[in-house]
Order: sequence, then C-alpha cells, then structure tokens
Amino acid sequence: MADTIDVLIPEKQIDARIRELAKQIDADYAGKSVTLLTTLKGACFFSCELAKCLTIPVFMEYIQAASYEGTSSTGTVTMMLDVPDTAVAGKHVIIVEDVIDTGRTLAAVKDLMQTRNPASLAVCSLLDKHECRVVPFEGDYVGFTIGNDFVVGYGLDWDQKYRNLPYIGIVR
Ligand code: 5GP
Repeated sequence: MADTIDVLIPEKQIDARIRELAKQIDADYAGKSVTLLTTLKGACFFSCELAKCLTIPVFMEYIQAASYEGTSSTGTVTMMLDVPDTAVAGKHVIIVEDVIDTGRTLAAVKDLMQTRNPASLAVCSLLDKHECRVVPFEGDYVGFTIGNDFVVGYGLDWDQKYRNLPYIGIVR
C-alpha cells in the first residue's frame, strides 16, 4: 500500500522563504563572496535554490557527515566526503543543512570546519526541530521551525525515498 503523505510546508511557501533568506544573506555578505558548504544528500535541493536566489558571488562545495554520540558534548563526526582545507581557509563559509534535529551533526561539523580557519562560518538550515535539541546549537539562518515529526521531501528522504517531492511532508 502506498504511503500517505500530508503536506506540512507547500512548495510556494518554501520558495518564498528561500528568497527571503537569500535577501538576508545578500545583505549580510554584501561586497563579499560566500562558499555554500552543502551537507549531502538532504540539503542539495535547498542549497541549489538558495544559490540561484543569491546575487553575491557563490562557490559550491559538498560534504557528507555522519555523527555519533561520544564522550564530548558534540559527539564525533565521521566525514564520508570532505573538502580540502583550501576550500574553507580564508573563505566566508555557510554550512547549508536540511534540518537541525538533535544538533549533534552540525555542532561537530562546525567545530571541525572552524579548525580550518575560515574568514567566517555560519549555518543555514531549511528546517529546525528546535524542541529536539540534545546539544545546544543555533542556526544563523533558519527557514522554518517545525515540531518533532519525521519529515520528507525537498531533499529529505525516508529510506532514500521521497527526496524529489517539491514540498515538505509528513509520512502517515
Ligand atoms: P542531528 O545531528 O541534528 O540530530 O541530525 C540532523 C540530521 O538527521 C539531518 O541532516 C537529517 O539527515 C536527519 N534528520 C533529522 N530529522 C529528520 C527528518 O525529520 N527527516 C529526515 N528525512 N531526516 C532527518
């Protein structure tokens, strides 16, 4: 039987919010260029749309990280795909994420990228499940704050399915 998916955030609303985020980033980084460091695979759709809406020069880089709870507060992160230090050093880097949940992955990725001496480092996430935090973490740019439902679409998967849905939905 096919899964039922309820629309949580329609496509038009996502598009409009991405344009707002881009406007804010354009203003904050006026006169500079930014490196969008996109976390695979989920944030791909979001970062492409964001990049298209930005008017400042943009560089695209990609990482894939898996985080595990460790003894430190942020846990440890394993980079399945990494970028060379030169892609980060001296650059204005914005880590682009699909959803901040416990905060573990981004806290660890941000700590790691900080060791590579970027000119500045910020985080932009399409979604924020703020009530699910395990480690303290705040995104600098957040599209939508949502509850603790498991969401799919717009790049987010459920067992690799549903990434191509043009909206954010909840599988029932
Ligand atoms: P965190 O380290 O913040 O707990 O994990 C963030 C990662 O967990 C996201 O990048 C995403 O891969 C996954 N994740 C968390 N919540 C959801 C969700 O509702 N749907 C999907 N598809 N992935 C999620």
